[in-house]
Amino acid sequence: NNKYHERKDAMYKINTDAARFFFANLRNNTEAKEYFMRRGINQSTINRFGLGFSKNDWKTLLIHLRKKGYNDKAIIDAGLAIKSEKGTVYDRFRNRVMFPVFDYKGKVIGFGGRVLDDSKPKYLNSPETLVFNKGTNLYGLNFAVKNGMAERYFIMVEGYMDCISLHQYGITNAVASLGTALTENQAKLMKRYADKVIISYDADLAGQKATLRGLDILRKSGFDVRVLTVPQGKDPDEFIRSNGREAFLKLIDNAVSLIDYKLGKAKKGIDFHNNEMIIRYGERVTEILADLNPVEKDVYIKKISEETGLREQSIYDMISDKITRNTESIE
Ligand code: ATP
Ligand code: MN
Ligand code: MN
Ligand code: MN
Repeated sequence: NNKYHERKDAMYKINTDAARFFFANLRNNTEAKEYFMRRGINQSTINRFGLGFSKNDWKTLLIHLRKKGYNDKAIIDAGLAIKSEKGTVYDRFRNRVMFPVFDYKGKVIGFGGRVLDDSKPKYLNSPETLVFNKGTNLYGLNFAVKNGMAERYFIMVEGYMDCISLHQYGITNAVASLGTALTENQAKLMKRYADKVIISYDADLAGQKATLRGLDILRKSGFDVRVLTVPQGKDPDEFIRSNGREAFLKLIDNAVSLIDYKLGKAKKGIDFHNNEMIIRYGERVTEILADLNPVEKDVYIKKISEETGLREQSIYDMISDKITRNTESIE
């Protein structure tokens, strides 16, 4: 209805005004400018992504927005200011480099702010508001879509800086889920533009877990999903900055399917001279292969056998053993 749309439009407007304010602040703050420079972000990227800075003060945005005619309630509802228990109103974002979050149409719906040092929390995001729902939006989607999605696939990363960095290096089909677990709604949103997604999360444990969850959701939504593993425990931003665009394009070429990703993980830390370990590996592999169709099984079993020296027949036997055991336990 009308009232609802008016309220949403008002919120886009106040967020846009805040983004302009942060953007203008960055111009005048050497420390913040140097921060982006140190991280290899150039001026054209700053302009395109509307990057900014929130001053190290309590009310600068508040005062600015009041002057523009917004009342405190509107500013608080938009998540830009906070009201303390005593009733004092103050800026949510202070002394942080600012990343406006756009929806797929390019409207500003919220912000992420990063500290310039190692203090915590590293990132502070807008709270959920009328227009900011993390689970239904993807960072960078507006830029990826504008680019026409010539590649017909997305590269899904975790963080603001991963997404921005890849875009700066011309990999403009990158989108970020911003550290949260990927949702079905986000998958649906991408489905309008592509049928394939390459997940490129951080190499740490949290990233690996998020990869497995993301894989399942994307597969259920009908995507062809692949996993790109960034070497040396880096994230995509760190990798592309130290190794360059061509090296990252190679990683894209080498992205693997779900099964290959799982098999790769199963092999980690296995010493193939140690019998107990081989047995454990066999059990892991059996788990992964059990649900595949016979042709897929043949392909993978052949490959595993070549890599490990296990006889193909042993792997088949283990799988049918497992299936028999499962059926028995159901009965
Ligand atoms: P940077 O490169 O700037 O250090 P990053 O993106 O590599 O940051 P990660 O720790 O890998 O940081 O987190 C990935 C993403 O998760 C972030 O970009 C951010 O969107 C989100 N995130 C991280 N820490 C927090 C936090 N404390 N609160 C909310 N979101 C966070
Ligand atoms: Mn991480
Ligand atoms: Mn990073
Ligand atoms: Mn990271």
